Amino acid sequence: MRPEILNPLFAETDSLDGVGPKLRKPLEKLHLTRLRDLAYHLPERFVQRRSVTDLDQAGEGEQIVIALTVTEHRASFSGRGPFRVLAQDAAGNVCALTYFGKASYTAKKQLPVGEKRWVAGKLERYGDMLQIVHPDHVSSDSSGLLGHLVEPVYRLAEGLTQPRMLSLAQQALARAPDVPEWIEPGVLAQQKWPGWHDALHMAHAGDNAPARDRLAYDELLANALALMLVRQSNRKRLGQALKGDGALRAKLQLPFPLTGAQRRSIAEIEGDMAQEAPMLRLLQGDVGAGKTVVALEAMLVAVEAGAQAALLAPTEILARQHYETLRKMLAPTGVEIALLTGRDKGRARESILMGLVDGSIQIVVGTHAIFQDSVSYRNLGLVVIDEQHRFGVGQRLLLTQKGRVTPHTLAMTATPIPRTLVLAQYGEMDVSRLDEMPPGRQPIETRVVALARLPDVVAGIERHLATGQQAYWVCPMVHEHETEDIAAAEARYASLKERLGDSVVLVHGQLAPEIKDRGMERFARGEAKVLVATTVIEVGVDVPNATLMVIEQAERFGLAQLHQLRGRVGRGSEKSTCLLLRGDDLSETGRERLALMRETQDGFRLAEEDLRLRGGGELLGTRQSGDAPFNVATLEQAVRLGQMANDDARLLVERDGGLDSPRGAAARVLLYLMERDYGVSLLRGG
Ligand code: ADP
Ligand code: MG
Repeated sequence: MRPEILNPLFAETDSLDGVGPKLRKPLEKLHLTRLRDLAYHLPERFVQRRSVTDLDQAGEGEQIVIALTVTEHRASFSGRGPFRVLAQDAAGNVCALTYFGKASYTAKKQLPVGEKRWVAGKLERYGDMLQIVHPDHVSSDSSGLLGHLVEPVYRLAEGLTQPRMLSLAQQALARAPDVPEWIEPGVLAQQKWPGWHDALHMAHAGDNAPARDRLAYDELLANALALMLVRQSNRKRLGQALKGDGALRAKLQLPFPLTGAQRRSIAEIEGDMAQEAPMLRLLQGDVGAGKTVVALEAMLVAVEAGAQAALLAPTEILARQHYETLRKMLAPTGVEIALLTGRDKGRARESILMGLVDGSIQIVVGTHAIFQDSVSYRNLGLVVIDEQHRFGVGQRLLLTQKGRVTPHTLAMTATPIPRTLVLAQYGEMDVSRLDEMPPGRQPIETRVVALARLPDVVAGIERHLATGQQAYWVCPMVHEHETEDIAAAEARYASLKERLGDSVVLVHGQLAPEIKDRGMERFARGEAKVLVATTVIEVGVDVPNATLMVIEQAERFGLAQLHQLRGRVGRGSEKSTCLLLRGDDLSETGRERLALMRETQDGFRLAEEDLRLRGGGELLGTRQSGDAPFNVATLEQAVRLGQMANDDARLLVERDGGLDSPRGAAARVLLYLMERDYGVSLLRGG
């Protein structure tokens, strides 16, 4: 049960002033449904304003606060252009306050001719005139504006404004309770971190590194602790030693010899499975490194030993694809394999459930449906989890802890996570790495192309499609407004469709799952030739014929992600190409980063370099994948603070494995607060 002290924070957002059905919608789009979510919706950045008395004191592009006296209202000539309010500073310099669309009605009222107003906004030049387009604030009194020269900028969705978001965040913060401290006192003192309550307020009020670090640490600690609890319970639980005799594996007719890395990984897995203690192992390997065969061999070990194996995929379409691949490979072995997804109903579903109970189905592939309460196994010996999910592997691990006997678990990920991050993200899992690609892979030809050359790129796609091949077009999700990104993707889709015809499909996160699946299936079957997509998972399907990928605004992605995306086109023996379309305002770092993509095909190296180059900077890319491991912590923070959080968590569990002490109780509050409470149920009286 959630500790009572947290109840105010878990109230729905419509318990706040001014939140009704209309505002709920954009909030939900941002996944802000409870006060807790608002409190943790930290500003993306801060605007720092300078107060000036004279426009001459301000530079172009500068954020200022200034007192102006309105001299004239000037509607546009045609009625279609902007509405301008001319105003003067104390020295008589003139500035236009420019408004587009409906905003001009409010402006007329707020800025009557002859009146003095305090205005905050970004000073720009338009021709030979100074202007502020859509001032952020207009006020008849100075105190409000001069008191807040630093202003948070939040990620928004359509229907929300910055002041509204600020007010909601403030209301949520006002209801934040005082909580007992869960961080080790020594750590807190050494880092000079504020308490949780203060840290939250500070993080909304300005660029405060200690406050941000503290909140990030909370999340890392919660994650480490949750994994530690699962691990602790896992160690105590009964597993089964599974030793295969190799009979089934000998019947596999693989068309290729295994790579050294594959053989080594399989041996490590086999070694673990032969132990009674349940395996908890992570198999890390670039896209195309050949994880499927490793999983297959592991599953056959289980079957040879008389147990069953299950493979859990993140989406239905990926489950289907795995099923098809494995079914073909298993044909010479006679092993029974089935596919089970949420879509299966009635008779078909019943017969699969029967097969799982009586053991006639030896391997099952599916989505989380394979772990629903209605599904029982005769003897589930191994669970393979493919790709990671938003809340990381811990929650998935828990799925497997239901039976009398805990199965061995193998988690597979293609995300090239820097070594330093593995611990923060997965806790103390054992790791096997496929650090060697199967032979004969051609490197993916990677080019950086300026956006200005878009017409050439589209012409190139046309030629590419004419040869019968397919292409991906990836648009990023990076703006403060998610809807803006979707709109950009839709616009791109429309313009490609105009040029390339109906063979273009669009798939993005705001579409209904059935529609998304249908689009992806059309592409996978080759009916659609171009897939326009916004996130990594949507291009997660293997389409050997898709040998060209265009990534728009490539500079906005993390390198590890670009690499993971790019890996989708290197699936066959065909030569493949990745075009990184870059925006025009590219910084030095941006240039250096994209150049690395041409230089190396080593995902781990790219991930490490990206971390080095971008340092503590904003890691826009992480939001992209939809499987960002952390909500509060940036990758940089996870690397810097992860080890400490892990040590802290381990110490706590060693001293107080039931979380019964006062600090243990505080830690329970943390687990619920950070929504890592899945492990609490494993505790006595949890
Ligand atoms: P991923 O690690 O991305 O899941 P897959 O398991 O899908 O990679 O493997 C990618 C491709 O490489 C598949 O077509 C697979 O058959 C092939 N493959 C896997 N192992 C080898 C190998 N040792 N030699 C040659 N090809 C291999
Ligand atoms: Mg795979």
